[in-house]
Amino acid sequence: MKIFNTLTRSKEEFVPVHEGKVNMYVCGPTVYNYIHIGNARPMIIFDTVRRYLESKGYEVNYVSNFTDVDDKIIKKANEEGVSSDEISKRYIAECKQDMDHLNVRPATKHPLATEEIDGMIDMVRTLIDKGYAYKADDGTVYYRTRKFEGYGKLSHKNIDDLEGGHRDIKVTGDLKEDPLDFVLWKPKKEGEPAWESPWCEGRPGWHLECSVMAKKYLGDEIDIHAGGEDLIFPHHENEIAQSEAANGVQFSKYWMHNGFLNIDNKKMSKSLGNFFTVREIEEKYDLQVLRFFMLSAHYRSPLNFSAELMDSAKAGLDRILTCCDNLRHLMDNETRKKLNEDERKKLDEAEKFREKFEAAMDDDFNTADAVSALFELVKFVNTNATSESSEAFIAQLMARIEALCDILGIITVKKQEELDFDIDALIAERQAARKEKNFARADEIRDELLAKGIILEDTREGVKWKKA
Ligand code: AMP
Ligand code: ZN
Repeated sequence: MKIFNTLTRSKEEFVPVHEGKVNMYVCGPTVYNYIHIGNARPMIIFDTVRRYLESKGYEVNYVSNFTDVDDKIIKKANEEGVSSDEISKRYIAECKQDMDHLNVRPATKHPLATEEIDGMIDMVRTLIDKGYAYKADDGTVYYRTRKFEGYGKLSHKNIDDLEGGHRDIKVTGDLKEDPLDFVLWKPKKEGEPAWESPWCEGRPGWHLECSVMAKKYLGDEIDIHAGGEDLIFPHHENEIAQSEAANGVQFSKYWMHNGFLNIDNKKMSKSLGNFFTVREIEEKYDLQVLRFFMLSAHYRSPLNFSAELMDSAKAGLDRILTCCDNLRHLMDNETRKKLNEDERKKLDEAEKFREKFEAAMDDDFNTADAVSALFELVKFVNTNATSESSEAFIAQLMARIEALCDILGIITVKKQEELDFDIDALIAERQAARKEKNFARADEIRDELLAKGIILEDTREGVKWKKA
């Protein structure tokens, strides 16, 4: 299995630090509002990575934080006249609801920055003791960026080029030794949440939070660290500087970054107004469609969000779910339980779709190609599963589709309202066929519905249906 590693800018064979185990850390959202569909992209992608690793037999320890202390949270709290804690708790609960509807499994652990302050103080102390950090006159603790030799290795930036970009900061009379130094601990301002520390009453810098939570829940050397590509610099670069200086070992073997989600081919941003929360999308679509839409593209490519593409994702997903639905209705064949020779051959043939799916996923989680392989399997099933098929044949085809869907996090059972919608659509089509005196088609639809266990009744108010 190969993973594209941002650190080496190449696809590398995946070899975990400890055989059979994967420790992965995914930077989670800052919780000051409902999450937007851009935030949903890394959640869906890395949940799928986790599911695939588990399907390969790895034991995955998946940690993803909530950043619950931050300027944006404080601002929102002040606007509403409530505490930061109330804001972050509220939006963590809302985020968990969105994750659930996206079928993103809860992490093994979702640490909160505010509950890990002791670990943060410990790491700052270690960094000061080792000469990688210093306290300025106002109590701020800074990281001494130039002291860390590998600085820039993740973002492939040259430290001297960075200095140029920061020159303006130096002129403003900063308390830093060097404009490149970044904050580990900052002093409290009026009305802000704060904790006691050896340097000043204050709060941690954002980069420090992730280094400490990864260390506590996954150890000093982790396998995969992931997030959106905007986090490569400075967030992840700074995490490496902190963790490697403090722990003395390589922090993460593989760094994975998803591309950005754009809207109507423009960068999604609040100021442009082209911005959707997951909740807004849920008003129009089942969130399974959003998940399927995200997986239909390669995770490292930019992805454009548009109503048109969502509708095509909806149609694609529907094809898969309808196939599963049909299989369920074909499932109990009373007359023939066992496979015949022809079916055995067909099952061998169907194996190639699973192989294709795996080959795509093994190639840096190419979900776009994996979805194509799943569509091929669906087509194969639609052609070969009939009311003449044995129960074992149908069950095995079903198991194969379900296994692939499970890796992608697609729930194969249609929601009741969608099933009702499908039935209503078929009834409407049957009525139209009757009107056109196309009785053959009308009868065909009646049989199709009967096969789904739906009985039609002609009433004065029109056609009604019930389950047999
Ligand atoms: P934030 O709350 O801004 O720290 O973001 C949480 C996660 O969402 C990070 O991994 C970001 O990289 C990711 N993210 C934010 N906006 C987008 C976007 N438009 N497309 C893809 N990922 C995004
Ligand atoms: Zn982080």
